[in-house]
Amino acid sequence: MTSSRREFLATAAAGAVGAGVVSRSAVSRGALGGAAATFDAVVIGAGVFGAWTAWHLRRSGRSVAIVDEYGAGNSRASSGGETRVIRMGYGADEWYTRWSRHSLELWKELAAASGQRLFHAAGVLWMAREQDPLTVDSLATLARLGVRHEKLSRGELETRWRQIEFGPVTWGIYEPDSGALMARRGVQACVAEAAREGAVKLTGAVLPPSGKGRLSAVALRDGTAISAATFVFACGPWLPKLFPELLGERIFPTRQEVFYFGVPPGDARFAPGAMPVWVDFGEQIYGLPDIESRGFKVAPDRHGPPFDPDTGERLVTAQGVAAAQEFVGRRFPALKGAPLVASEVCQYENSSNGDFLIDRHPDLENVWLVGGGSGHGFKHGPAVGEYVAARIEDGKPVDAKVSLATKQKAQKRTVY
Ligand SMILES: Cc1cc2nc3c(=O)[nH]c(=O)nc-3n(C[C@H](O)[C@H](O)[C@H](O)COP(=O)(O)OP(=O)(O)OC[C@H]3O[C@@H](n4cnc5c(N)ncnc54)[C@H](O)[C@@H]3O)c2cc1C
Repeated sequence: MTSSRREFLATAAAGAVGAGVVSRSAVSRGALGGAAATFDAVVIGAGVFGAWTAWHLRRSGRSVAIVDEYGAGNSRASSGGETRVIRMGYGADEWYTRWSRHSLELWKELAAASGQRLFHAAGVLWMAREQDPLTVDSLATLARLGVRHEKLSRGELETRWRQIEFGPVTWGIYEPDSGALMARRGVQACVAEAAREGAVKLTGAVLPPSGKGRLSAVALRDGTAISAATFVFACGPWLPKLFPELLGERIFPTRQEVFYFGVPPGDARFAPGAMPVWVDFGEQIYGLPDIESRGFKVAPDRHGPPFDPDTGERLVTAQGVAAAQEFVGRRFPALKGAPLVASEVCQYENSSNGDFLIDRHPDLENVWLVGGGSGHGFKHGPAVGEYVAARIEDGKPVDAKVSLATKQKAQKRTVY
């Protein structure tokens, strides 16, 4: 056992007196149904980052509670959608390529353990223009790291996917082992697995902590308090609301629309197997095949306006539908005029540089902040959770890439 692990358990046993918002005497067991109110770790937020953090912490033998105010993978959460892309290409950025590859192994492991379909190996097709730097760099990174892929000429693209009108696209990369994750189902499966292994699942809104030093407990809005040695706030787009001074300008949620178009009856050309997941960063748009008969998914990858995850209305706009329909008709001619059969409004929780935020709270030494998924975080949930659990265990500083110090107080974007 490492010294940090000993200290961790000892603090938990002692009730973690210190700079907490709630005194030990205030600890209630009401919401806990009689379970112990002290844990090695409490994870606040059961989105993809919190779920996998709880899963890894539990796997390493810790007592864990995971608390969410609306429930795991709820409709307001960034992880609450139907599907998410998992791709390996990330330009020159090896960090995310490695995390994505490792995460896919863990997603498959979770799927096997839960007995549920969480991944569709539909393949991912990058549609590129001549000297498209992100795609050119991705090609080099995939080759360097030995990730299976094909570089395809315009002619090869046209032969393989006759249902696509490639327009200005001159070449592409195909990742055959990548594809689509079932988002809400995956998060719920992860929380269920953590719970099956002993993690305690709670519903409640955790109030923001304050003070300095060591936090002893967090309070739920109903007055219940939960003490722990470590607290992980994995609250996605809610992080700036919980920590306004620290994160108010470092994470900025934007409104994002997702459209599902109905495919023609009996037409299998848009189902996984015939149609890959595709990304066209030149047009800032991507989409997924008709997975589990939900519809042909299309989503613009541009930042929308600022968005409140609690109160924001989740109806798509007529302009958004028209723009998506225009693109679909142009790129996939057989879907011209296809009806909108479903839609989602979600939010990105953007950091200034598109990198995740994983760090200790600067004033509360046993509080972790985990978020900043920036529109590409879902696939990496397993690797993020593992990284957080490892830093809690070994006490080492986080890498500069994900640290609070590298997140500017500025609302600009980097596209990943
Ligand atoms: C439209 C859209 C498309 C996307 N596409 C992709 C994609 O294709 N591939 C990809 O990898 N990523 C994608 N992403 C990004 C990815 O979905 C997010 O980065 C990721 O889901 C963020 O997860 P999270 O756990 O940080 O946040 P969330 O999923 O939002 O989870 C935070 C949780 O915290 C809870 N919470 C908040 N405050 C409190 C509180 N006070 N007390 C208790 N609970 C609280 C909330 O209820 C919520 O469940 C997409 C995002 C969107 C919106």
